[in-house]
Amino acid sequence: MSERRPVSYEDVTGSLRERARDALADAELGGNLKASSASWAAGRARMGEAHPFAEMRDRGREIRRRSVRELPELLDLLEQRVVEAGGVVHRAADGADACRYVARLAHDRGASLVAKSKSMATEEIKLNEALEEAGLRVVETDLGEWIIQLAGDHPSHIIAPAVHLNKDQVADLFATESGAPVPREREALVAHARRRLREVFAAADIGISGVNLAVAESGTVCVVENEGNGRLVTALPRVHVAVMGMERVVRSWSDAAHILQLLPMAAIGDDAAGYVNLITGPRRDDEADGPEEFHLVVVDGGRSALRGTEFEEALDCIRCGACLYSCPMWRSIGGQAYGSPYSGPIGAVLTPLLEGPTSPKAAELPFMSSLCGACHDACPVKIPLHDLLVRARAVAEPPGRGRDRLAISLWSRLWSTRAGYAATRVGARIGARLLGRRGWLSRLPGPGRAWTEQRDLPTRWPPRP
Ligand code: SF4
Repeated sequence: MSERRPVSYEDVTGSLRERARDALADAELGGNLKASSASWAAGRARMGEAHPFAEMRDRGREIRRRSVRELPELLDLLEQRVVEAGGVVHRAADGADACRYVARLAHDRGASLVAKSKSMATEEIKLNEALEEAGLRVVETDLGEWIIQLAGDHPSHIIAPAVHLNKDQVADLFATESGAPVPREREALVAHARRRLREVFAAADIGISGVNLAVAESGTVCVVENEGNGRLVTALPRVHVAVMGMERVVRSWSDAAHILQLLPMAAIGDDAAGYVNLITGPRRDDEADGPEEFHLVVVDGGRSALRGTEFEEALDCIRCGACLYSCPMWRSIGGQAYGSPYSGPIGAVLTPLLEGPTSPKAAELPFMSSLCGACHDACPVKIPLHDLLVRARAVAEPPGRGRDRLAISLWSRLWSTRAGYAATRVGARIGARLLGRRGWLSRLPGPGRAWTEQRDLPTRWPPRP
């Protein structure tokens, strides 16, 4: 069983504009993204009808805002409780520190095989690459992540890493990996993966998981998944390492219960995830199952510097991926073009913040948005993503130099006179008469053409349904 070495994000070539253009030209990718986004939208609509979603979002926002404000205290409490439960906590200043800790632990325990469940934090810190460089074999056990690993690719979506591939493409990858033809039916593909990965669960020396949420008052980490692989990764190997971004903590079980309910509703349009694993320390003396050691690696990686800034709300994210599915940009090109573990609106905000203003992505990603606000409407914890994107643009293009700045200043000059305002209204009406059908413009000339190739433009606000 062989896995291809993961592609490093540094290996992503071309400008964002070039990668986006390539993605737009890929009809198969477009079809796959359209199908997955439609399926998410249908599920999300069902949740809106079945639950008081507006109130739930308000409570979700209140919990996340309060948790980030209390972060230092919550992290101290979490550490204290994890240690009391027999675990070890390592606070890593950055990704390199976290990778060093896990690699050293693996070396000290004589490990050779690592089984991983899905984790965006480990993707962010490039843990797989670090462990492979240290001579370990690392196998992703989440189906989507394993597919991506076999493809030598990186995830397209926060919770659905292989959403840009269809089953025929997956069957080809499995056939290459196993050296034999693989049936192309969905169930057969899942059965194939299960068979191959079972060997890994049984033989792994170390299991590495992410953390969806940590509960400070009890020192518990919550790992949410839909396949059961997370349960095996965290229970079978003799050492379990959980890697979390430092902001993923709440104070109480009451807070956690609400976020754990919101997460699957926003992420997959369902009332509950398949598995919610609640892990408090290693196996106890009177328990039959579980690892002998539990290590919690808490990664800062630039997060603490965001507290108290105009970008602090980015830390509220619960990584549900809803803003990706709702974004017309992401729906058109998928996640890979972003060249970052985090794609879509939250990726366009978070990546420059975590990588720093000198990263080339800081100058590009904040502009990957039409600022339509759909991401804010989709976000279960009401992060004002469109505002954060505008602020990120201001950082990328300081006042006086930016394209947005120029456009806004021209617009404001036009609208600040009675005649200019009237001229824009008349122009809009003429345009609507000439081009609009049922209140929507579907084809614009000149610079507006790129916009209407992907979406229609309303001729009045609010648009007609
Ligand atoms: S920003 Fe909001 S919608 Fe996007 S992944 Fe985070 S929690 Fe989900």
